[in-house]
Amino acid sequence: MPKLAINGGTPVRTELFPAYNTIGEEEKKAVMKVLDSGNLSQFLGAWHKDFYGGPTVQQFESDWAAAFDSKYAISVNSNTSGLFAAIGACGIKAGDEVIVSAYTMSASALAPVIYGAVPVFADVDEDNFGLSPESIESCITPRTKAILVVHIFGNPAKMDEIMSIAKKHNLYVIEDCAQAPLATYKDQKVGTLGDIGIFSLNYHKHIHTGEGGVLTTNNEELAERIYLIRNHGENIVEPKGIENVFNSHGFNFRMTEMEAAVGIQQLKKLPELIEERIRNVEKLNLELGKIDGIQTPVVESGNKHVYYVQALRYFKDIVGVDRNTFVNAFKAEIPSAILREDTPLIGAGYVKPLYLQPLYQQRATHCSFNCEKYKGTVDYSLGICPNVEKLHFHELITHEYMRPGMSEQDVNDVISGFYKVADNVDELR
Ligand SMILES: *Cc1c(COP(=O)(O)O)cnc(C)c1O
Repeated sequence: MPKLAINGGTPVRTELFPAYNTIGEEEKKAVMKVLDSGNLSQFLGAWHKDFYGGPTVQQFESDWAAAFDSKYAISVNSNTSGLFAAIGACGIKAGDEVIVSAYTMSASALAPVIYGAVPVFADVDEDNFGLSPESIESCITPRTKAILVVHIFGNPAKMDEIMSIAKKHNLYVIEDCAQAPLATYKDQKVGTLGDIGIFSLNYHKHIHTGEGGVLTTNNEELAERIYLIRNHGENIVEPKGIENVFNSHGFNFRMTEMEAAVGIQQLKKLPELIEERIRNVEKLNLELGKIDGIQTPVVESGNKHVYYVQALRYFKDIVGVDRNTFVNAFKAEIPSAILREDTPLIGAGYVKPLYLQPLYQQRATHCSFNCEKYKGTVDYSLGICPNVEKLHFHELITHEYMRPGMSEQDVNDVISGFYKVADNVDELR
C-alpha cells in the first residue's frame, strides 16, 4: 500500500488554510471618511500646494517616513512606477547600463528599459539570493550608472559590499524593497542604505492598499525629481523656477486619498504582521532544518529577514529525488492554496531567470539595447548567471505557509507534509 497521497495514499490534510487578509474595520472606517468628504484625490498637476497631493496622502507619507527612518517618503500608484521614477530621478538615459538581479520580479529589470537604458543581469549569492558582489564587479563597464538591488524574499542583500563597489565606481544604488518592508541590514532599515528605496503596496505584499507604492530617500534633489516625475513635472519647472529641467517630464503616478487612508491603517499593523511571520518561520526552520538535503534561510547576524516567502534550498543528491518530484508529492499532501483565489502557496523555483524572457531574447524594444547611443554589447544568453539557473531549475523551493493567520496546527501540518514526503522518497524513485 502506498503511503504518499500522490500514489493514492491518504493526504496529511485536505482542509484549506486560512485566507491572508489584513483588511479590517479600521480600513473600512478610514475609507468611508474619505468617501464622505467627496475628495478622492486632491492632486493638481500644476505648481500649487496641491502638487503634493491631499491631506490623507501627505499624512500617509509622513507616517511612512517616520516608520522607515527616511527623510522623504513619496507615495506612488505602484512599486513598478516607483522604479521608473527612481531610474528617471537618477538621470539614467539611452546608452547607460544598470546592473540588475536576474532573479526578481520582472519590473525591477524593466525600469532601465523605460528610460532607454540597458539592464545588465548579474548573478545572485547562492545563500541569500540577493545580488552577488563579485558578479556585480564583473558586470561593471564605463557605461554603468547604477546598481538596482533587490532584497529578495525579504532578506537584505549584502549592502556593505555593494555600497563600497558603488562608491568606488561612482554609481547610484536603488533598492527594490517590495518584499522587504522593515527588514534591516546591520540594524539599519532597508530603503535607507542606498540612494532611493521603493516599496510595494500591491495585494500580494505584507501590507497593501490594493495597488500602491512608496519611495524613500534622504536626498533632497532626488526627492524633488521624484515629485516631478510623479506628477506632470513639465508643467512645474517653469513656475517653480527649476533651472535644471533635465528629466522633468512627468507621468501620473499619483496615489488616491482612499488608498492613502488604507495605507495609514495598514502601516500600523505592519510590525505585528512581521513578527508573526518570523515566529512561524522560526518553527518551520527548526523542523525543516532537520531534513537532510534541505537548507533553511541564511540570515547574517544583525540583519532582519521579514519573510515575504520562505525560500529553501533543496539538494537532490542528498534527498534522493529531484526537486520538482518532491514538490509535486508535497502538493498532494497539503492543499496548495488559498489566498483569496487559487494562487499556489508553494513553488519549485521562483520566476524564470529574467534574461530568458522574450523581451530580452528577442531584444524587442525600439531603444535600450537597440539604441544607436548604446556602445556596449550585452549578453542575455543561457548560462550568464549560473547560480540563478541552478537555484531556479534545481534547488529553490519557495512557499508562503508562514503567513499571519496560520495556527500552530496549520504550521504543524505543513511540517508533517515535508516529513512524510522525505520519509517516503523511496516511493518516488
Ligand atoms: C511585487 C514586486 C514588484 C512590483 O510591485 P507592484 O507594486 O505590483 O508594481 C517589484 N519588485 C519586486 C521585487 C516585487 O516583489
